[in-house]
Amino acid sequence: MGEKNYNAFAMAQEQFDKIAEKLDLETSVRELLREPLREYHVSIPVEMDDGSVKVFKGFRVQHNDARGPSKGGIRFHPLETINTVKALSMWMTWKCSVVDIPLGGSKGGVICDPHNLSPREQERICRGWVRQLAKDIGPLVDVPAPDVMTTNQHMLWMLDEYETIHGAKYPGFITGKPVGMGGSLGRTEATGYGVVFTLREALKGLGLRPEDTSASIQGFGNVAQYAIRLYNQLGGTVKLVSCWDQQDQTAYAYKKEDGIDLDELLSISDRFGGIDRVKAEGKGYEVLSGDSWLSEDVDILIPAALENQIRADNVDKISARVKLIAEAANGPTTPAADTVISERGIFIIPDFLANAGGVTCSYFEQVQCNMNYFWEKDEVLGKLDLKMTSAFRAVYELAVKKKLYMRDAAYVIAIDRVAEACRARGWV
Ligand code: NAD
Repeated sequence: MGEKNYNAFAMAQEQFDKIAEKLDLETSVRELLREPLREYHVSIPVEMDDGSVKVFKGFRVQHNDARGPSKGGIRFHPLETINTVKALSMWMTWKCSVVDIPLGGSKGGVICDPHNLSPREQERICRGWVRQLAKDIGPLVDVPAPDVMTTNQHMLWMLDEYETIHGAKYPGFITGKPVGMGGSLGRTEATGYGVVFTLREALKGLGLRPEDTSASIQGFGNVAQYAIRLYNQLGGTVKLVSCWDQQDQTAYAYKKEDGIDLDELLSISDRFGGIDRVKAEGKGYEVLSGDSWLSEDVDILIPAALENQIRADNVDKISARVKLIAEAANGPTTPAADTVISERGIFIIPDFLANAGGVTCSYFEQVQCNMNYFWEKDEVLGKLDLKMTSAFRAVYELAVKKKLYMRDAAYVIAIDRVAEACRARGWV
């Protein structure tokens, strides 16, 4: 997110300050919410396969837990910084709050590159991270999950270490586990479907029928694929998708005027969401440059790949026909571009509302684990629809009533709920 020299935490604070002003929050609440409640820095000594010992730096930041145990993923990344982790933990607080699940926000990370580590070394990092933090995290305190470069295998190693330390089974300690090992059905679909549940409601608000609309999507990974599936089921036409081409080290867009065929593209894509360009050409797709997703003449844009994609330098490429942007990715729009989008009157479903289906389903996983009773997929997805729909409606109604931009309305609701919880507990 952000333009040049961008510090994620400074930006998260800036966004918060703007809404704190709108809500006229008292100083004590502002001081509490613009910083994390707790920030842990840990050193993790790991025996490497060659017998040497390397010390890795790890973090866990609990931004706020007034509404319930904090929740957030753990990233493994060589360039991980405490500022990024702090920002992400704050955004998790707002995301859980806007969908009204009883959880706070946290985030974790380890500075490491899994590409250069053997599975045994990765396992030792996972177990070491849990050993350092075992007293400060847990199913009733702070619940981790996978994120960038962490997998369900990492989650199982972490769970095993936590249960070994505490001498009992705590399947609700961590989410993102495989189905059959405490994972929830529906998690794979959850984020993409969640995006389209909110999109469906937004179209109702705009008086548009999905079958009369078309969309252009950046990305063809987990989120994009399930978003396309459900949007197609509602009758919508996806004209274009773009994705990264590993071989050519550039992004391409694949277009069919009368609509791309999801199953056809899936049959020629890899597990990282990359499409085989030559095969796509063979199937009659027009191959365009990667950035053409933004200028496509459609009603709906869905950025579902990376942060920082709609910026001051390219926002003007958005076609006059675009009525709605559903931010499936985290932070796809920079603040400068956001101002332009707002001034043009394009309806936006902000990232922390649009893509909250993932964390909502993780919450369902935790609930199922704590009960030790697992739901059928339809039940999970039905509950997800209810949560996403009511979250969207609350934001939309406030936006209409107070004439607020959707992003601001979502922040107002999220921050107000957390502030109220802090006051109700007598913290401020
Ligand atoms: P993914 O890794 O499965 O897919 C990413 C896709 O983006 C791939 O198709 C890749 O080819 C494409 N891509 C990469 N660089 C590109 C570029 N320059 N131009 C065009 N396409 C490019 O990831 P995902 O899980 O689908 O996540 C997508 C976004 O959604 C991320 O911002 C992520 O943080 C966010 N998100 C994901 C979840 C989730 O549950 N998966 C939840 C919340 C938010």
